[in-house]
This record gives sequence, structure tokens and C-alpha cells, in this order.
Amino acid sequence: MRAFFDRSEPRLVLDGEHPLWDEALAAVNRDLAATLPDQRPLRLIAYPECEDLDEVYVALSNGEAHGSPLTPVRSAVEALMAVADAAQDTVTERLWRAWPVCTVHDLGMHPRDVDGRPSWWCAGGARRGDPAHIRAAIGELDAVRRTPAPTASAASPADASGAGPQVFATSAVPLRVLPADPDEGRRRLLQLQVSARSVLGALTLH
Ligand SMILES: [Zn+2]
Repeated sequence: MRAFFDRSEPRLVLDGEHPLWDEALAAVNRDLAATLPDQRPLRLIAYPECEDLDEVYVALSNGEAHGSPLTPVRSAVEALMAVADAAQDTVTERLWRAWPVCTVHDLGMHPRDVDGRPSWWCAGGARRGDPAHIRAAIGELDAVRRTPAPTASAASPADASGAGPQVFATSAVPLRVLPADPDEGRRRLLQLQVSARSVLGALTLH
């Protein structure tokens, strides 16, 4: 984690400066829009390090970022994995919430490379027969955000046809009312699924 307050002012990264990261961020921003519609798109900011070298971060629209700078990548897959990871750090730590959340299990998901396809991975339910699963490719959460469990979504016409979120836009939002039980705090910790390296994770653990 870098201390942002004692550094020179960041600048916005211009379109085309880092095409692989731009493309990756566009995909991640689709997922952000699908899951947190009130949030404005994430963007890339850069802190000048040396004369020709910048440290680039994934930031909220207000310029706040968290975590490590992006490291150089050689492929679109590497870029998407790196940008999704950085975006998750920034959203989780700056907005103080798990993101993105698997709506089936109410758990925070993590980027995982599935045979060259960067995807959101969920740890699954605690019960037997409810294993870890891949929720969606990164950039495609809008297609699954309101569908039920993966087993059911396989038979969902919307998923099968790729008809997308419009199908669900007019349907009732499946609000889940959480009981005010004493396990809520523990469940909340589980939901975060925070990584050990995060400040939030450390604070939550201790
Ligand atoms: Zn899940």
C-alpha cells in the first residue's frame, strides 16, 4: 500500500497510453455498472515516478485508489487479470464493501484465469453439493446478476440466448432480507472474502 497523501499529484491516464489496460478496464467497468450502478466508472491514474516512468493505478472516479500499481503486461488476459484485481482492491477498500458479490452465495468473488478466460470465482456455499464455481467471465456479470443458482441458470432462457440484462430489467428485484441475527457479523466477514494482504482484511481479522 502506498501512501497517497505525501506524493505528487496524480494525473489521468489518457486514452491510448496503455491500450491493454484500457480494454481491460472497460470490461471491469461493465461489471461495476452491472453490480454497483450508482458508481461512476473506474479510471486509470498515474503518479509520476521517474521522468519516463509512471505508476498506474485503478482508481474510483474521484481519483481514490488503493493497493499496488499495475505491472507491465504482455497480453489482454494478463491485463484483465491485473486490472480486475486492482479494481477489486480499490472498490473493496475505498467503498468498504465486498465487490463483486456472487448473488447466489452472497460472497465476494475473485478473479481467476480459467483456461485463458479471466473470470469471477466464488468459493461456493458451506453445504455439501454447493461447491466453488465460476460465476461469469470478467466483463459479463450483467448477464448473470439476477439469475438464480448456476444450476438453474444453465436452463435459463436468458442465459442460454445471451439476451442479457434487458430481460431482467423489468422483473422484480429479488431483494433478500437479511435476518438480524447474531451471526450477521461473522457472515459479513465471510462475505468479504478479503485477501490477507488487504488492510480491510487485516482490520477485520484483528
Ligand atoms: Zn457463488
